[in-house]
Amino acid sequence: MTHCFGTGGLLTAYFFPSFLPLTISTIRDLIMTTKPTDLTPLIQKRLEPRLRKVLYSAGRSADALGWKIYCVGGSVRDLLLKKDTFDLDILVEEHGLEFARHFAREEKGTLKLYRRFATAMVIMPGGIKVDITTTRGEFYPEPGSLPEVIPGSFEEDIRRRDFTINAMAFSLNRGEFGRLIDLTYGLDDLNAGIIRVLHGDSFRDDPTRIFRAVRFQQRLGFTIEPRTEELMRTAVNLKLFEKVSPERLRHELELIFKEPDPPGAIESMARYDELRFIHPRVSYTDELKAQLYRIRENYAWFRGRFGEESISRFRIYFGALLFSLPEDAIAETGEKFNLSLKFSGQLTGVKRRSEEIVRILSSPEEVAPSQVYSLLHGSDVEILLIIMSRIDSEHLVSRIRRYLTEYRSVTGEVKGGDLKKLGIPPGPEYKKILDKLLFARLDGRVQSREEELNLVTSLVDTHD
Ligand code: ATP
Repeated sequence: MTHCFGTGGLLTAYFFPSFLPLTISTIRDLIMTTKPTDLTPLIQKRLEPRLRKVLYSAGRSADALGWKIYCVGGSVRDLLLKKDTFDLDILVEEHGLEFARHFAREEKGTLKLYRRFATAMVIMPGGIKVDITTTRGEFYPEPGSLPEVIPGSFEEDIRRRDFTINAMAFSLNRGEFGRLIDLTYGLDDLNAGIIRVLHGDSFRDDPTRIFRAVRFQQRLGFTIEPRTEELMRTAVNLKLFEKVSPERLRHELELIFKEPDPPGAIESMARYDELRFIHPRVSYTDELKAQLYRIRENYAWFRGRFGEESISRFRIYFGALLFSLPEDAIAETGEKFNLSLKFSGQLTGVKRRSEEIVRILSSPEEVAPSQVYSLLHGSDVEILLIIMSRIDSEHLVSRIRRYLTEYRSVTGEVKGGDLKKLGIPPGPEYKKILDKLLFARLDGRVQSREEELNLVTSLVDTHD
């Protein structure tokens, strides 16, 4: 790979092996001198026909309007990596929002406009999401703040992106459809499996990129290039992340926890000391590491068993990270990151009882289903998955699994109305009786409505 940048430019761009000055005109020269790579065969072979059709239609629409249009960013990266792409990122020179309106009308899609960021989304009738942006530059009034978006050229738009592998584009216009435009040697980095920022101020401009780096590293199995790694560490040491809002941090964490290997990503975050931005006292120990891997296993089991039931990966992993903090720190961090009060409350409540729960449920002695039920009832599934992973115990796992698959859905047949008919005056006694019936049912002591009614009678008699 040769680098042939001129000197004396206004922009400082970062490429291997060190920072070199780079002007817009030299970038332009580069486009002209870079041997064109035609991605059309790859597009034909790899891209789903529905997506391909969208790209060709977008190109035709932009041609009719005389505007330059590109596919850019993650879609290009994934296409080159031969990974499935589901959504498309499209970039239109100067006229992104007008194009989005026009395209949505032509294709009978649904349009969503995000004016502040000069971006739009068109949801096509088949459900494909097309992100459409206008070429723009950005400047950051202060580190970590949201960028001010200013109109910009194609080159400026590429230069503001996070990593070289995410800064490639290909044209959609007629005559040049499929031509790869790779101003930052992204293809070389993609082939070498490297995550590299585009310039030395990248993490200062937007510290969320520290988390993005870890996410792509984990997802793609790539290496973070040494100088980029050094810049990440500097950004962490300067605590730049403290300037980023908790909402943005939460969003990055949500994305990380959606990746196939959250424990691996958390380990990577710990390596770069990023966990301190959740709470300075979150500490990554061997014990926590083992727990996180158990969570992944138990989560996979739950998904396989209860595919339809919606649970939040964010709550599970975030909850596990917070679990060893003192109660007030859990409450404070929960509030900061917008965890519901109910969930934070459950977390602290279960934490208080966790030693007892784990001790009883991991015991080799027999434990009655009603006891398992009374220890676990009232906790969300996410909390149960955390508890289930606290220690490496088959008894603990199988009892909680049994609770999830059987006990939690057991109900008695006798209801409050039946108790009334039996002449028992309504009041707090009802709950006690119904709980006893449920426990008897769980432990197999009653199996029919009749047996339940007999039990009620004997309970009332004993009570008298
Ligand atoms: P994913 O597959 O996770 O969606 P993606 O690369 O498509 O990955 P998006 O968050 O959808 O990620 O962003 C689309 C593109 O926008 C990226 O490929 C990158 O070029 C650019 N981008 C996104 N976030 C940033 C950021 N924080 N800083 C700079 N560029 C960004």
